[in-house]
Amino acid sequence: MIKKASEINELTPWQEMTIGGEIYEGGTASLVNTGDWRTATPIFINDKCKHCMLCVPFCPDSAIPVKNDKRLDFDFMHCKGCGICAEVCPFEAISFGKGKK
Ligand code: SF4
Ligand code: SF4
Repeated sequence: MIKKASEINELTPWQEMTIGGEIYEGGTASLVNTGDWRTATPIFINDKCKHCMLCVPFCPDSAIPVKNDKRLDFDFMHCKGCGICAEVCPFEAISFGKGKK
């Protein structure tokens, strides 16, 4: 039986994939541990954060969770370590270091 793109993972046999790997629905990386590729890691400095949320829409991987109007620590399962959040934070509440957390 052919599976939906959201049901496919690295263990799915080719017989259950669409011909040519075509995708017939919206794509999402949320089901994949894309943070595995990270070679640098942002560090959230909670004391300096003003919860202005500027970093949130800049993150290309939606890896900055927000709850009850507060930004939370990074979602390292999906953060790829691009460093954009550290660049845009006006309060130096994000530092950046080499390596994976
Ligand atoms: S380093 Fe890049 S991917 Fe990770 S949280 Fe910051 S903006 Fe998002
Ligand atoms: S941009 Fe900086 S101060 Fe604003 S929510 Fe993000 S980490 Fe906090």
